[in-house]
Amino acid sequence: MKYYILFGPPGAGKGTQAAAMVEKFNLCHTSTGELLRKEIAEGSPLGIKAKELIDKGLLVPDEVVQGMIGNRFDTIGGVDGFLLDGFPRTIAQAEALDGMLASRGGEVTAVVSLMIPDEMIFERIRHRAAIEGRKDDASDETIANRIRTYHDKTEPLVDFYKKAGKYVEIDGTGTIEEVRDKIFAALG
Ligand code: ADP
Repeated sequence: MKYYILFGPPGAGKGTQAAAMVEKFNLCHTSTGELLRKEIAEGSPLGIKAKELIDKGLLVPDEVVQGMIGNRFDTIGGVDGFLLDGFPRTIAQAEALDGMLASRGGEVTAVVSLMIPDEMIFERIRHRAAIEGRKDDASDETIANRIRTYHDKTEPLVDFYKKAGKYVEIDGTGTIEEVRDKIFAALG
Protein backbone atom coordinates (compact mmCIF):
# COMPACT_ATOMS: atom_id res chain seq x y z
CA MET A 1 0.00 0.00 0.00
CA LYS A 2 1.12 3.53 -0.80
CA TYR A 3 0.53 6.30 1.71
CA TYR A 4 0.92 9.75 0.18
CA ILE A 5 0.51 12.97 2.10
CA LEU A 6 -0.57 16.15 0.35
CA PHE A 7 0.82 19.01 2.36
CA GLY A 8 0.62 22.80 2.14
CA PRO A 9 -1.02 25.91 3.53
CA PRO A 10 -4.78 26.54 3.24
CA GLY A 11 -5.67 27.40 -0.34
CA ALA A 12 -2.52 25.81 -1.81
CA GLY A 13 -4.63 23.64 -4.11
CA LYS A 14 -4.50 20.36 -2.19
CA GLY A 15 -8.10 19.37 -2.94
CA THR A 16 -7.72 20.17 -6.65
CA GLN A 17 -4.49 18.22 -7.09
CA ALA A 18 -5.78 15.36 -4.93
CA ALA A 19 -8.36 14.55 -7.61
CA ALA A 20 -5.65 14.05 -10.26
CA MET A 21 -3.39 11.99 -7.96
CA VAL A 22 -6.23 9.76 -6.80
CA GLU A 23 -7.12 8.89 -10.38
CA LYS A 24 -3.57 8.29 -11.55
CA PHE A 25 -2.45 6.12 -8.62
CA ASN A 26 -5.83 4.53 -7.65
CA LEU A 27 -5.85 6.01 -4.17
CA CYS A 28 -8.54 6.66 -1.59
CA HIS A 29 -8.78 10.43 -1.11
CA THR A 30 -8.95 11.14 2.62
CA SER A 31 -9.43 14.80 3.46
CA THR A 32 -9.90 15.45 7.17
CA GLY A 33 -11.41 18.86 6.34
CA GLU A 34 -14.03 17.21 4.12
CA LEU A 35 -14.76 14.50 6.70
CA LEU A 36 -15.23 17.21 9.34
CA ARG A 37 -17.51 19.26 7.06
CA LYS A 38 -19.62 16.12 6.56
CA GLU A 39 -19.96 15.72 10.35
CA ILE A 40 -20.98 19.39 10.58
CA ALA A 41 -23.58 19.00 7.81
CA GLU A 42 -25.02 15.97 9.63
CA GLY A 43 -25.15 17.91 12.91
CA SER A 44 -23.37 15.10 14.81
CA PRO A 45 -22.01 15.83 18.31
CA LEU A 46 -18.49 15.72 16.87
CA GLY A 47 -19.53 18.11 14.08
CA ILE A 48 -21.04 20.58 16.51
CA LYS A 49 -17.81 20.71 18.55
CA ALA A 50 -15.59 20.85 15.47
CA LYS A 51 -17.57 23.69 13.90
CA GLU A 52 -16.76 26.09 16.74
CA LEU A 53 -13.03 25.53 16.29
CA ILE A 54 -13.05 25.47 12.50
CA ASP A 55 -15.01 28.73 12.27
CA LYS A 56 -12.31 30.39 14.40
CA GLY A 57 -9.48 29.09 12.22
CA LEU A 58 -8.26 26.71 14.95
CA LEU A 59 -7.42 23.02 14.69
CA VAL A 60 -9.69 20.32 16.04
CA PRO A 61 -8.09 17.99 18.62
CA ASP A 62 -5.50 15.51 17.33
CA GLU A 63 -7.43 12.48 18.69
CA VAL A 64 -10.49 13.42 16.65
CA VAL A 65 -8.74 13.47 13.29
CA GLN A 66 -6.55 10.48 14.17
CA GLY A 67 -9.73 8.50 14.87
CA MET A 68 -11.13 9.48 11.48
CA ILE A 69 -7.96 8.40 9.68
CA GLY A 70 -7.78 5.07 11.54
CA ASN A 71 -11.38 4.43 10.61
CA ARG A 72 -10.62 4.99 6.90
CA PHE A 73 -7.63 2.64 7.01
CA ASP A 74 -9.82 -0.02 8.64
CA THR A 75 -12.82 0.25 6.34
CA ILE A 76 -11.64 1.14 2.82
CA GLY A 77 -10.46 -1.54 0.42
CA GLY A 78 -9.95 -2.01 -3.30
CA VAL A 79 -7.36 0.75 -3.65
CA ASP A 80 -3.58 0.81 -4.09
CA GLY A 81 -3.17 3.30 -1.28
CA PHE A 82 -4.36 6.43 0.47
CA LEU A 83 -3.91 10.11 -0.25
CA LEU A 84 -4.02 12.03 3.01
CA ASP A 85 -5.08 15.63 2.43
CA GLY A 86 -4.95 18.02 5.39
CA PHE A 87 -3.55 15.33 7.70
CA PRO A 88 -1.17 15.30 9.52
CA ARG A 89 -1.26 18.94 10.59
CA THR A 90 0.77 18.71 13.82
CA ILE A 91 3.91 16.83 14.87
CA ALA A 92 1.76 14.76 17.28
CA GLN A 93 -0.49 13.73 14.36
CA ALA A 94 2.56 12.81 12.25
CA GLU A 95 3.92 10.63 15.05
CA ALA A 96 0.52 8.99 15.52
CA LEU A 97 0.35 8.34 11.77
CA ASP A 98 3.78 6.65 11.82
CA GLY A 99 2.48 4.39 14.60
CA MET A 100 -0.73 3.55 12.72
CA LEU A 101 1.18 2.74 9.54
CA ALA A 102 3.85 0.70 11.34
CA SER A 103 1.13 -1.46 12.89
CA ARG A 104 -0.18 -2.16 9.37
CA GLY A 105 3.31 -2.94 8.05
CA GLY A 106 3.41 0.30 6.06
CA GLU A 107 5.08 3.68 6.06
CA VAL A 108 4.62 7.12 4.52
CA THR A 109 5.54 6.81 0.82
CA ALA A 110 6.08 10.52 0.09
CA VAL A 111 4.96 13.95 1.22
CA VAL A 112 4.01 16.22 -1.66
CA SER A 113 4.24 19.78 -0.42
CA LEU A 114 2.50 22.50 -2.43
CA MET A 115 4.09 25.85 -1.63
CA ILE A 116 2.49 29.25 -2.25
CA PRO A 117 3.24 32.62 -0.63
CA ASP A 118 0.91 33.96 2.10
CA GLU A 119 -0.45 36.75 -0.18
CA MET A 120 -1.62 34.14 -2.66
CA ILE A 121 -3.38 32.21 0.11
CA PHE A 122 -5.69 35.16 0.73
CA GLU A 123 -6.35 35.67 -2.96
CA ARG A 124 -7.20 32.02 -3.61
CA ILE A 125 -9.38 31.59 -0.54
CA ARG A 126 -11.39 34.72 -1.38
CA HIS A 127 -11.94 33.33 -4.86
CA ARG A 128 -12.97 29.93 -3.44
CA ALA A 129 -15.34 31.57 -0.94
CA ALA A 130 -17.39 32.93 -3.82
CA ILE A 131 -17.69 29.45 -5.37
CA GLU A 132 -17.91 27.00 -2.47
CA GLY A 133 -19.45 29.09 0.30
CA ARG A 134 -17.36 27.63 3.14
CA LYS A 135 -17.92 29.60 6.34
CA ASP A 136 -14.22 29.41 7.30
CA ASP A 137 -13.38 31.06 3.95
CA ALA A 138 -15.74 34.00 4.49
CA SER A 139 -13.92 36.12 7.08
CA ASP A 140 -10.46 37.68 6.74
CA GLU A 141 -9.90 37.14 10.46
CA THR A 142 -10.53 33.39 10.15
CA ILE A 143 -8.26 33.15 7.11
CA ALA A 144 -5.50 35.04 8.97
CA ASN A 145 -5.89 32.66 11.94
CA ARG A 146 -5.62 29.65 9.66
CA ILE A 147 -2.42 31.02 8.14
CA ARG A 148 -1.04 31.63 11.65
CA THR A 149 -2.06 28.12 12.76
CA TYR A 150 -0.35 26.74 9.66
CA HIS A 151 2.94 28.50 10.39
CA ASP A 152 2.90 27.64 14.12
CA LYS A 153 1.61 24.08 14.18
CA THR A 154 1.88 22.61 10.70
CA GLU A 155 5.03 24.07 9.10
CA PRO A 156 7.32 22.21 11.58
CA LEU A 157 6.31 19.07 9.67
CA VAL A 158 8.49 20.23 6.77
CA ASP A 159 11.63 19.46 8.79
CA PHE A 160 10.07 16.33 10.25
CA TYR A 161 9.55 14.84 6.78
CA LYS A 162 12.79 16.24 5.34
CA LYS A 163 14.68 14.38 8.07
CA ALA A 164 12.72 11.24 7.20
CA GLY A 165 13.74 11.67 3.53
CA LYS A 166 10.12 11.76 2.40
CA TYR A 167 9.67 15.44 1.53
CA VAL A 168 9.03 16.57 -2.07
CA GLU A 169 8.42 20.29 -2.54
CA ILE A 170 6.40 21.54 -5.53
CA ASP A 171 5.91 25.16 -6.56
CA GLY A 172 2.13 25.56 -6.23
CA THR A 173 1.88 28.96 -7.94
CA GLY A 174 1.33 27.78 -11.55
CA THR A 175 -1.84 26.73 -13.33
CA ILE A 176 -3.69 23.58 -12.20
CA GLU A 177 -2.20 21.61 -15.10
CA GLU A 178 1.36 22.91 -14.54
CA VAL A 179 1.27 21.96 -10.88
CA ARG A 180 -0.25 18.56 -11.68
CA ASP A 181 2.50 17.79 -14.20
CA LYS A 182 5.19 18.79 -11.70
CA ILE A 183 3.68 16.43 -9.11
CA PHE A 184 3.54 13.54 -11.57
CA ALA A 185 7.10 14.19 -12.73
CA ALA A 186 8.36 14.26 -9.13
CA LEU A 187 6.58 11.03 -8.16
CA GLY A 188 7.67 9.28 -11.36
P1 ADP B 1 -7.77 24.22 4.19
O1 ADP B 1 -8.27 24.60 2.85
O2 ADP B 1 -7.77 25.37 5.13
O3 ADP B 1 -6.50 23.43 4.17
P2 ADP B 1 -9.25 21.88 5.22
O4 ADP B 1 -10.49 21.55 4.47
O5 ADP B 1 -8.08 20.95 5.08
O6 ADP B 1 -8.90 23.36 4.83
O7 ADP B 1 -9.58 22.02 6.79
C1 ADP B 1 -10.56 22.90 7.27
C2 ADP B 1 -10.45 23.00 8.79
O8 ADP B 1 -10.71 21.71 9.39
C3 ADP B 1 -9.09 23.41 9.35
O9 ADP B 1 -8.93 24.82 9.36
C4 ADP B 1 -9.14 22.82 10.75
O10 ADP B 1 -9.91 23.60 11.63
C5 ADP B 1 -9.89 21.51 10.54
N1 ADP B 1 -8.94 20.39 10.25
C6 ADP B 1 -8.78 19.76 9.07
N2 ADP B 1 -7.82 18.81 9.14
C7 ADP B 1 -7.35 18.86 10.42
C8 ADP B 1 -6.33 18.16 11.14
N3 ADP B 1 -5.57 17.21 10.55
N4 ADP B 1 -6.12 18.49 12.44
C9 ADP B 1 -6.86 19.42 13.06
N5 ADP B 1 -7.82 20.13 12.45
C10 ADP B 1 -8.07 19.86 11.14
